[in-house]
Amino acid sequence: MTSEKQQSASCLKKFTNFTVWFDEILLNAKIVDNRFPVKGFLVYLENGAYIMDKIRKMLEEKLEKTGHKLMLFPLVTTDELFAKEAEHIKGFSGEVFKIELKGDKESQRTLIIRPTSETIIYPMFKLWIRSHADLPLKVHQSVNVYRYETKATRPLYRVREIPWNEAHTAHESPTDAERQVREAIEIYSQVLKELGISFLLLKRPDFDKFAGAVYSIAFDAWNPDGRVNQVATVHNLGRNFAKAYDITFEKKDGSRGYVYQLCYGFGYSRVLAAIISQHGDDRGLVLPPAVAPTQIVIIPILFKGQEKEVMKYAEEIYREVKDRWRTVLDDREDVTPGEKFYHWELMGTPIRIEVGPKEVIEGTVTLTRRDTLERIQCSKDKLIDKITFLMDDILRNLRERSERMLHKLIVDARSMEEATKAVDDKNIVRVAWCGSLECAQKIRENVGGEIRGERYDIAERPDRPCIACGKEARTIVYVARAY
Ligand SMILES: [Zn+2]
Repeated sequence: MTSEKQQSASCLKKFTNFTVWFDEILLNAKIVDNRFPVKGFLVYLENGAYIMDKIRKMLEEKLEKTGHKLMLFPLVTTDELFAKEAEHIKGFSGEVFKIELKGDKESQRTLIIRPTSETIIYPMFKLWIRSHADLPLKVHQSVNVYRYETKATRPLYRVREIPWNEAHTAHESPTDAERQVREAIEIYSQVLKELGISFLLLKRPDFDKFAGAVYSIAFDAWNPDGRVNQVATVHNLGRNFAKAYDITFEKKDGSRGYVYQLCYGFGYSRVLAAIISQHGDDRGLVLPPAVAPTQIVIIPILFKGQEKEVMKYAEEIYREVKDRWRTVLDDREDVTPGEKFYHWELMGTPIRIEVGPKEVIEGTVTLTRRDTLERIQCSKDKLIDKITFLMDDILRNLRERSERMLHKLIVDARSMEEATKAVDDKNIVRVAWCGSLECAQKIRENVGGEIRGERYDIAERPDRPCIACGKEARTIVYVARAY
């Protein structure tokens, strides 16, 4: 059986009954417990918290290497600051959490808990930025933001307490701002690539851009239920916020001007959801080695009379690999090897090493890779090289498998009927669009998915008329249901 067929055979539940499959994994693989009594607020369990923290470190390292300074800003803003940028407040006012401060008449006031931090960070930018010498200014922070979701909540995908990283930058010129858009895209793409996650890089249509932005670029990851999962966004803010918060600088020629700004965000819980849903199978998690809490598990297969030799050998192997990879020697005595296999497959551990009397005699080990479940014999003296190779190969395979699935999910449609059927069949649909709001509305109502945008990484020229009105199309867009 090829690994491709194995993959589809081992993913029946994931593709046919995603919600049940996903909820089972969340709890059984110790990712989150969704039973906390406040809706949309999750308890992150040991593996979920660990993986998210690894993702955070991967991202922050890249941000800091490219000159983003780590800072920490307050959780709250005021009504007045929040209202300064007109589009921004329109976009977010319906979904903010508020704190009512009760006291005497004078001290009674309302604070807004950040749904995102423009209105908290930019008043400080105004104080810090004086001249071109202060630019570019690039800051970032990994914090929770809070949004009162009106749509139904889903663990990791749609939550009210959202763990993310947000970066905010200010620049001298529109050219510098454009360069920063490319840098931000490169950083996010790199992290997602190192996690094997595949996505569509889309420029959102104007009606769906970030409130207050000139334009928004989004990373939409595929999901087994056909919905797309927006894991990150990059927004070019132009001078909209600079004007609202009066952020000016002295130019090289002595005149004053407003700065050009960007903000971009990377959703840790949504990236965690993408890792689980893109790579997992019906046995459980399949983790990219970089974020796996346990990268190798060693399971001694004990036979009566030979326990001592096997345990001694297993410990030798453990000592050999434990400083290079996060390794567990599963020497529990009251659990059968079969139960241990089941457990570590559920946990998504990339490599399992089995040692029994046969391996002791031959000086070998038996390796099983979690992504393909392929079993590999390896002599003990070649072990380090073999594992090094396998860890890279597992990531390569996960990435390629995920890419192939993304391509399989994208379907062309030339009529509303075709598009509707494709969305019902859990696909992402490629259609031609004239650009009018009216047609976007029609598509949403008839097809059941929304226009997510046009490709940002490649130019796709429309070769057919608008799917809704039949007039000349302006662009090719992707339509899907979304989280
Ligand atoms: Zn149209």
